[in-house]
Amino acid sequence: MLTVKNIRKTYGNLVVVDNLSFEVGDGEIFGLLGENGAGKTTTFRMIIGLLEKDKGEVLLDGEEVNYQVTDKIGFVTEERSLLTKLTVKEQALYYGALKSMEHDQILKELDKWLDRFQISQYKNKKIKELSKGNQQKVQFICAILNHPKLLILDEPFTGLDPINVKILKEVIYELKSENTSIIFSSHQMEYIEELCEKLVILVKGKTILEGYLPQIKDDYGIKKVVIKGKNIPLSKLEKIKGVGTILEKDNEFIIDVLNGEVANKIFQVVKSSEILKFEAVTPSLSDIFIEKVGGYHE
Ligand code: ATP
Repeated sequence: MLTVKNIRKTYGNLVVVDNLSFEVGDGEIFGLLGENGAGKTTTFRMIIGLLEKDKGEVLLDGEEVNYQVTDKIGFVTEERSLLTKLTVKEQALYYGALKSMEHDQILKELDKWLDRFQISQYKNKKIKELSKGNQQKVQFICAILNHPKLLILDEPFTGLDPINVKILKEVIYELKSENTSIIFSSHQMEYIEELCEKLVILVKGKTILEGYLPQIKDDYGIKKVVIKGKNIPLSKLEKIKGVGTILEKDNEFIIDVLNGEVANKIFQVVKSSEILKFEAVTPSLSDIFIEKVGGYHE
């Protein structure tokens, strides 16, 4: 279990991370969200001890994260820090040794993961000869060679094609089933929505929303109703208090509503019409992000 308690980082007068706290349980996937410059990378660096905190605590299974505990952590940095003159094998041996792994064990793990990511043919190629996406896969492999207790992934999906995104997602789920705590950032909300059970949204280093995703969505409530059918009494719907914009698209009406109660009122009005579809929709994480973060700047 990762425990982050009241961590703070400032550069001069600029507060980059402000009293941030959260927990990531064993086998839990956690999303750290925020717009550019919100403080995600700084947070990751403080967690693994690459950057000194002004204050606060980071504990992994109750132990303060220090050089020894770092052996149990895998980190994929946003700026992809590989030694490009080394071959893939040399790179893995270097990272594995840093994590106190035996030579044979490193090579065994390397072969397994290269095969899994379908890049075995590059084992003896120099990193600089690989495409960006394949370099990224190598970096991911180096981060998981030692089956870390905590895996931190800064924008792991950026630059990967859909096939490799699928493989990476599957591997993330495998590591989850091995009880690894996984924390990642992404600007692609659909990945966070699909993979993360828990999340924090940061604005200027401060938490503005946190919790389990299903709960966040429930709290947010119903914000849209989609109706397909014949003779929908639009003029009546427009008069209902709490009904916003009504958009017609592909023979469907998409109606902005204030809450579930308004959705119910709409249903009462249209139920005697010839209805083919009636759907009350909770917002996507992307909608929530835009409203919460956007609202903060207004
Ligand atoms: P992105 O999504 O763009 O990667 P991020 O959420 O990861 O952004 P950080 O890289 O953590 O954001 O940066 C947070 C803030 O800290 C930014 O305003 C950045 O300019 C500032 N910052 C980061 N490193 C330094 C530094 N060494 N000196 C001064 N300011 C810094």
